[in-house]
Amino acid sequence: MPSQNGQTPGVLAHKAAVADLLERNKKYSETYKAPPALKDGIIKAVNAGRRTTVVKLATISNAGGRTADAVRSILALDALGNLGTVMIVHHTDCGMTHFTGAEFQQKTAERHPDLAKPDMQFGEVSDPHKTILEDMRHLKGFKSFEDNGTEIRGFVLDLKTGRMTEAKL
Ligand SMILES: [Zn+2]
Repeated sequence: MPSQNGQTPGVLAHKAAVADLLERNKKYSETYKAPPALKDGIIKAVNAGRRTTVVKLATISNAGGRTADAVRSILALDALGNLGTVMIVHHTDCGMTHFTGAEFQQKTAERHPDLAKPDMQFGEVSDPHKTILEDMRHLKGFKSFEDNGTEIRGFVLDLKTGRMTEAKL
């Protein structure tokens, strides 16, 4: 429902959240100290087997934690150094469980007719215990990961208990 200034409450909430984030970042930056490696201009992503590795864990996040969205980033990180292990994490009560693929398509067609395609896949999560297996199979389907010694492991995070359980194919 439009408010007095013609914007929807959701849009106002998002704008307030961005303003809040920027304000908190401003405060954070006042006492921020760059790590030594950053001062030296050495940034290495993921464990590349080098002593100077700074970041041992890179995180790729997307709606539902689906691997179809993440392949480009995984390949980019792999090009920078051997990945070692890819952990895929799906979680209970994920927002991607709230709509079916058809509902995501319908909403996108309504809101973004210029972007919508009838065959668009949204990677909805019907059950994280099932989709984690789908995504493990997806990445394990690329033989080159195995050839390069990359381990693919999948986990489901239970938001009620905070515990992660490893999925087994
Ligand atoms: Zn989620």
